[in-house]
Amino acid sequence: MDLDSRVREVVAWAWERSPAFRRRMEEAGIAPAQIWGIQDLARIPLLKKGELAALQAQDPPFGGLLAVDMGELARIFVSPGPIFDPQGAGKDYWRRAQALEAAGFGPGDLVVNTFSYHLTPAGFMYDAGLRALGAVVVPTGVGNRELQVEVITRLGVTGFVGTPSFLGALLEVAREKGFDPEGFPVERALVSAEPLPPSLRTMFQEEWGIDTYQCYGTADVGTIGFECSRKDGLHLARDVVVQICDPATGEPLSPGEVGEVVVTLLNEVYPLIRFGTGDLSKLLEEPCPCGRWTSPRLAGFMGRVGDAVKVRGLFIHGHQVKALAGEFPWVKKLQVVVDREGVRDSLTLLVETEGASPGELETLKRRASELFRLKVDAIDTLAPGELEGAKPLEDRRRWD
Ligand SMILES: [Zn+2]
Repeated sequence: MDLDSRVREVVAWAWERSPAFRRRMEEAGIAPAQIWGIQDLARIPLLKKGELAALQAQDPPFGGLLAVDMGELARIFVSPGPIFDPQGAGKDYWRRAQALEAAGFGPGDLVVNTFSYHLTPAGFMYDAGLRALGAVVVPTGVGNRELQVEVITRLGVTGFVGTPSFLGALLEVAREKGFDPEGFPVERALVSAEPLPPSLRTMFQEEWGIDTYQCYGTADVGTIGFECSRKDGLHLARDVVVQICDPATGEPLSPGEVGEVVVTLLNEVYPLIRFGTGDLSKLLEEPCPCGRWTSPRLAGFMGRVGDAVKVRGLFIHGHQVKALAGEFPWVKKLQVVVDREGVRDSLTLLVETEGASPGELETLKRRASELFRLKVDAIDTLAPGELEGAKPLEDRRRWD
């Protein structure tokens, strides 16, 4: 079936089954019959990623967006926000196998899956894709670096999936332990959840012989794009329609313009239609010389709309920083600074206060780690007024 027919079908289905979608259509004065295909999607207002947490809180658990009975789900994940992410039935629900296949993974590969298997869905996304391809998974999850390096060398693991920073961290441990890069068994890696700096990709290839590819997706919609052998942009995955839109108006932009990645998920479980991911990118017009994949390509991650930033694979939202500051009366103002030391993102809290005890600062730091589900590296105090006009979140990382 062509994409226009599938768009018609998913819109009609969501109209019937998803009260939140029907409300969005009605408020905009549109009926399903007016959506003939991709061209007409722009008439439907955006559903912003940043609205999901509030929508789900108002109408638990899925904000009126789930279009099947809850009993038909396989799993429910909890992403920061909190946002509940449903997993429907099926072998490769998030369509991750195509990204793995494009990266050269196949039957018989032995792969460490270093994404977490609890709360957020990344671990299961890769697990399902790898199993669908016939690869063998070693579900190592996050952390335990020394053990992971031992497992990789003793089992002769051929593949890695995880964040690029974590691959960098494992290779650092391997080097410290005196492993010979020539004899290191990992041949290929598929990374996601954060940008892959070109310098890091070159280091993986040249020093360790690891051929590294990128995949792009979200916890809500699964796989959106993936790199092919040319490693020049991300081919759009199956079952998604991607538009690059003006983040303010939702209007699709001309080809080549940078805008928000807006996804329509052709899925009957969780039919997210005109879902604004908050990620910025652009579409590449020229066909890919690879010849293997024919879908259009996204240029890759070009930043975030608004105030959320992704740190070590998890989003921190500006509203979370404000809420955190509100929990401590002695905090006049709070800013979270994200920076990068080597291959690792660092998180620093800057606190405006008239005087806080070391114990109070430690409590704030601990609470921040708990709320963001990320380790906070440092906390610094500033005199009142020093954060005048500062954003709640400051991203100082550079990706070149
Ligand atoms: Zn290609």
